[in-house]
Amino acid sequence: MITPSSPLRQLSSWQNDLAQAISDPAELLEALQLPKSWLKERVDTQANFPLRVTQHYLSLIQAGDPHDPLLLQVLPQQQELIPQPGFTTDPVADSVATSGNGLLHKYAGRALLISTGACAIHCRYCFRRHYPYGEDNMLRHWESLLAQLSEQTDIDEVILSGGDPLTLSDHRLAPLIEQIAELPHIQRLRLHSRVPLVLPNRITPALCQMLENTRLHVSMVLHCNHPQELAEPLDVALMQLRKSGVTLLNQSVLLRGVNDQVTTLKALSEKLFAYGILPYYLHLLDPVSGAAHFNVPTETAKAIEEELRSALPGYLLPRWVRDVPGHAAKTPLNAL
Ligand SMILES: *Cc1c(COP(=O)(O)O)cnc(C)c1O
Ligand code: SF4
Repeated sequence: MITPSSPLRQLSSWQNDLAQAISDPAELLEALQLPKSWLKERVDTQANFPLRVTQHYLSLIQAGDPHDPLLLQVLPQQQELIPQPGFTTDPVADSVATSGNGLLHKYAGRALLISTGACAIHCRYCFRRHYPYGEDNMLRHWESLLAQLSEQTDIDEVILSGGDPLTLSDHRLAPLIEQIAELPHIQRLRLHSRVPLVLPNRITPALCQMLENTRLHVSMVLHCNHPQELAEPLDVALMQLRKSGVTLLNQSVLLRGVNDQVTTLKALSEKLFAYGILPYYLHLLDPVSGAAHFNVPTETAKAIEEELRSALPGYLLPRWVRDVPGHAAKTPLNAL
């Protein structure tokens, strides 16, 4: 019997939604009225990085359209298994930057924390799809990590990355943020998350309150790749975040077949702004093995960027960059 004090009753609706994310390719194909024959042909390739998609994200995919730009981001494809020269399991050299305790010190003044291995959605282009999360994440090493942060007084910004930090419950997140805020040299807290897009009900009043109450200046970088990913009720949720003083930014990945058209990227920037989000970065794909089919050649990217630059006001144009291993900052496209 479920009593009011039972843990089951305490799951928030977003946690229930997270638990009900689809991981069975057959279920995905059926929900989208796609041919069952795809199961063997194209979908049976998820062994090392399983399918994962929320009901909300699923509802944004056009049924029956095999080229849907959202579907392509989550559907395992057989071509992922074909090795491609230059595409590796550690494309941005995270394994060199990590301290082994979930802290990546790659960028001056900023500490990037691998908050958890969990994500609400599995993106086929993910540059951390091979990352050894089980061992190297902040929750496992919190005390030593906090000690390290307290000594590194050159750091003024803590970035919660992942995995996805917003898959953590408020119960987990609140003390982490409080303890970070106790370090006097830390001024800014940044969350990198795709959760609001795929699980908008994660933006609860309690979360907004938590981010409003900290003394840290909070920003959230959403990872939206396509205007179709921006839909109700996200607009209302984001408004609450902004009212709580959170600065909203976006970074996208340039993906062949998903957003490699000027019209798409223009519409994306415009819709982001309408949702109160400023375009920040547009990343060229990190060469992670399994994602080569998303790659857009650098020369093609340059041509798209040039056209986009003349189509948008400067403040709606994201910085086009690549993460070059060993570099202390993102490398601008025009320097590639
Ligand atoms: C590059 C990067 C950062 C930090 O770089 P900024 O230039 O400070 O934004 C943080 N998270 C991810 C995922 C990145 O790729
Ligand atoms: S949400 Fe981010 S970390 Fe998670 S699979 Fe997608 S791109 Fe990777």
